[in-house]
Amino acid sequence: MFLYEVRFECYSDTTISQAEKAINALLDCWRYNGQIIGREFPLVLKEAVFACRVVSPLQDSLLEKYQSNQVKRAKQGLHDVGLLSPKLKLLGRDINSDDSDECHTPKWQVLYTNYLQTCSPLRCGEHFTPIPLHRLPAVANGDHKQLIKWQEDWSACDQLQMNGSILEHGALNEISQINSRLFRRGYDLCKRLEYLTQVPTYYYLYRVGGDNLMSEQTRSCPSCGGDWRLEHSVHDIFDFKCDNCRLVSNLSWDFKS
Ligand SMILES: [Zn+2]
Ligand SMILES: [Zn+2]
Repeated sequence: MFLYEVRFECYSDTTISQAEKAINALLDCWRYNGQIIGREFPLVLKEAVFACRVVSPLQDSLLEKYQSNQVKRAKQGLHDVGLLSPKLKLLGRDINSDDSDECHTPKWQVLYTNYLQTCSPLRCGEHFTPIPLHRLPAVANGDHKQLIKWQEDWSACDQLQMNGSILEHGALNEISQINSRLFRRGYDLCKRLEYLTQVPTYYYLYRVGGDNLMSEQTRSCPSCGGDWRLEHSVHDIFDFKCDNCRLVSNLSWDFKS
């Protein structure tokens, strides 16, 4: 991932609140299009220039060729409040974050996230590296907002069940059961992604608990009831994979060594 400084210069009178609103609207649209990642973008104002730092999945992620109509409109919104187009300065490669996937057509891909991650929720099945969303056709309404919102909800549930102090049961249900609303949303997005990219797209089902190691090892696919155990664990996470249902899962974290 790459760290950029983005500068917005004022060319006519504007108020701080107007400028801030227009800039944040652009940051949201970039994020929903997969051109930047992360949740927090501190914005500073110095001598009529607003500046913030963003992380992009690829060095060229912020180029106009990737922008959505929403991004285009948000840039127009900057001009409407007296700001120039954003100026970008590459600060360097972010060594704290994962590198993006380099496959042009992965053999398979998986929708996967957790409470710590803000990178793309779509990963290459072979390398397990995040696939920049802006490289893919828009999943709905011109960008990837539905995927980002699914990821936010999944991460929030994961955070609740990790903390274990409130709403733990309901949160765990959402990320581990195939009758949950979160599952249905994500599973539909997987189908849509598979249709758009022609790459087999799997959904990850979280698994924890269970009675004993034996019953967990012989657990069948929750959708078709078939045998889905993998001979070897993939990326140290996936121990089950059903190619019919496009589902992957782990051996219950309670019994995983
Ligand atoms: Zn790959
Ligand atoms: Zn199945």
